[in-house]
Amino acid sequence: MKKNYKFIVSNDVPGPTKEEIRCLVMCKSEVSSSDVILEIGTGTGGLTTEFARKAKKVFSVDKNPKAISLAQANLKRMKLEHKVELIQGDALTVLDDIPQFDVLMIGGSSGDLSQIIKKGYKHLKTGGRIIITAILLETRFEAVNTLRELSMNPDIVDISISKGKIIERGTMMYAENPVAIIYSSKK
Ligand code: SAH
Repeated sequence: MKKNYKFIVSNDVPGPTKEEIRCLVMCKSEVSSSDVILEIGTGTGGLTTEFARKAKKVFSVDKNPKAISLAQANLKRMKLEHKVELIQGDALTVLDDIPQFDVLMIGGSSGDLSQIIKKGYKHLKTGGRIIITAILLETRFEAVNTLRELSMNPDIVDISISKGKIIERGTMMYAENPVAIIYSSKK
């Protein structure tokens, strides 16, 4: 994973997901070079670019057209566009068009999380993984409950990162908002 690349960002589009969180998502999703990924919530393309580096193919969906064009620019900049199909649309509609995948990554859901998980589960290959990143407490709760309903028995990690900044007197630590990663695999 390259550490020093920079994303093009926009005030109209959330992301990119912080580098340390991206690292953990990649680790927990156990992506291999033969995997097909469906990502809901492209945003700036922070996670899309990480998946594109490792997987065979990434389908990435966002309802916001500005996110799609921003992610397109970031993928082009990192020479990863050939690996990714960006789709502008709502998760629940697009899910019907993607037959099967190894990883379902959900980074945005706008109140439809439970339905997205349930619909995605049907298209997820056996042995495939579902990964959800959650900022809100309610998203953590909904993700865990829905995965349990599907007998998926999820794992949760809650990550609080502080980064050091060197100042005159020493190194000051700055905290970032906690993010949870909720993940599980299909038996
Ligand atoms: N992981 C991204 C940031 C995601 S922000 C990154 O690293 O850059 C969440 C995104 O999810 C937003 O761009 C939002 O438009 C999108 N989103 C939210 N609900 C959605 C839905 N139901 N269908 C498609 N996209 C959705």
